Amino acid sequence: MRRCVQCKGQEFERVERKLLRTVGDQAFSTVIPAERCVECGEGTIGAEDGMRFEAAIAEALARSGASSGDAFRAMRRHLGLRSGDLAALLSVAAETVSRWETGQRPIDPAAARLVGVLVLEKSGGRSETMIRLRLLSKPRRQPKTVRLHLARARKAG
Ligand SMILES: [Zn+2]
Repeated sequence: MRRCVQCKGQEFERVERKLLRTVGDQAFSTVIPAERCVECGEGTIGAEDGMRFEAAIAEALARSGASSGDAFRAMRRHLGLRSGDLAALLSVAAETVSRWETGQRPIDPAAARLVGVLVLEKSGGRSETMIRLRLLSKPRRQPKTVRLHLARARKAG
């Protein structure tokens, strides 16, 4: 039987819990169902709800094209990347990402958009761009001659 971590009470009631998080100068909020101990009022939210909230925030930031240091950091963390990992994918120095995030240096707008694309792809269960960036971040030799096979143009209609 489940017991309250505070008072060991066994009776819980369903409540709605408001979550609030600030990223840069934007506030994000949501309401989720939660349970509260009838005895002492102790309430917990599931780790999964917390993660879904973080994911929804990252997605909203990506959709709006947010490019503050805090927004950039929230999106990077949602992608599960350390700043050095993301720096390698974007082909910038490792310190550059930290400087963007702390506001010491203006963020490259193209980098912010690309990170937004990665976030939106992830929320759609896709990862083509991430895979492509990983491949491109490895050094490779460029062949002198490249033979291409062209697909036939399809007739319209
Ligand atoms: Zn309790």
